[in-house]
Amino acid sequence: MTPELAAAVAAQTDFAADVFDRLHACSVDVRGVTRASYGEGEQAAHALMAEIARELGLEIDQDPAANTYMTQPGQDRSAPVRMVGSHLDSVPQGGNFDGAAGVVSGLTAIRALQQLGHQPKHDIRVMGVRAEESCWFGTSYIGSRSALGTLPDGALDTATRADNGRSLAEHMAECGGDPDKLRDTAPYLDRTRIGAFLEPHIEQGPVLVEEGFPVGVVTGIRGNRRFPNAHCIGEYAHCGGAPRRVRQDAVVAATEFVQAMDAEWDKAEASGDDFACTIGMFQTDIERHAMTVISGNVKFSLDFRSVDPAYLLKMEARVPAIAAEIGARRGVKFELGAMTRAAPGFMDQGLVETYRKAAAGMNVRAMDIPSGASHDSAAFADAGVPTAMLFIRNEHGSHNPDEAMEIPDFIDATKLLAAGLTA
Ligand SMILES: [Zn+2]
Repeated sequence: MTPELAAAVAAQTDFAADVFDRLHACSVDVRGVTRASYGEGEQAAHALMAEIARELGLEIDQDPAANTYMTQPGQDRSAPVRMVGSHLDSVPQGGNFDGAAGVVSGLTAIRALQQLGHQPKHDIRVMGVRAEESCWFGTSYIGSRSALGTLPDGALDTATRADNGRSLAEHMAECGGDPDKLRDTAPYLDRTRIGAFLEPHIEQGPVLVEEGFPVGVVTGIRGNRRFPNAHCIGEYAHCGGAPRRVRQDAVVAATEFVQAMDAEWDKAEASGDDFACTIGMFQTDIERHAMTVISGNVKFSLDFRSVDPAYLLKMEARVPAIAAEIGARRGVKFELGAMTRAAPGFMDQGLVETYRKAAAGMNVRAMDIPSGASHDSAAFADAGVPTAMLFIRNEHGSHNPDEAMEIPDFIDATKLLAAGLTA
């Protein structure tokens, strides 16, 4: 049924464009859209998705975290369900497509299957996920981890929203959730009953635009190692009085460390290993620094990522060795501080292959691509659910009002999604 399915999805172009217009209208801000986690815009987006699902005759449900579920019943209701999901919140004054595209894609695929008269073997369930953007509560994957029972203990009370200081529990209750039930009952989703979690999402980088592909089949979600509070400790000294041979210059040593990390990235590129590295914070001590003082302290952060857990492990050992070598040579000491780890999100190879085959059979141009950013999919993959992601070409990145996903590209991705839902 591949060509028929592709044609049926293509016939949903106006439907999809209309849904995105309505979504924009219900959450429009001075610039772009604002759908605060457990706030007004997100609430409106959930209500709109439920309204559209009702028009499609889907079963509608909500869990204690106020995630929205929209289900097309399958022939065998006891068979493991195929889920499509993504988040409906946005950053302040963000774009209309980040997150929401995944939910709209699920509803669009279901509408195409309905028009074909195709009843899937298993239930297809679209999940509108709450609170993925960590800018609001400082915690990631709140909706998906609540549904899976993996939200960290205490987060309901300790996580507070950045703009008003009120607790996650309070916000959740206000949006129709039931935090007490969430605390006291088994997870709403039984991970062993989920056959697949599929998440289409706009690409947040420029790769698909540069390479000229409308769709990316995600090969993995990068895990990371983070040193939020690293220091290079040298010795403060007079810039004129201290001869070069005795200097313990923290700025020179720390910048050499930055260059060494960049050289590691060169090596990774040369060997074809997936890697990215960022020193996002870098500062001398504002209390003591001066133009004429050799700096004795540089504070910096380090974030490095890879889809390959072995590579992360290798770098975890390599980074302190690099720091120690520079430290010994420059007479300074690197104190890298506490490190946090996030495991890479593994994509299910069977599902990835299904997408690749569907792309070939449906004449959709798709390329393999790793995901540099984090997504709800990582929470599902981490819970052991077979997971796969599609990226949709999108100009100007995301988390800004200028996201520019084109509907024909969205339709191409939805063709592959529909194939994944019926495979
Ligand atoms: Zn997103």
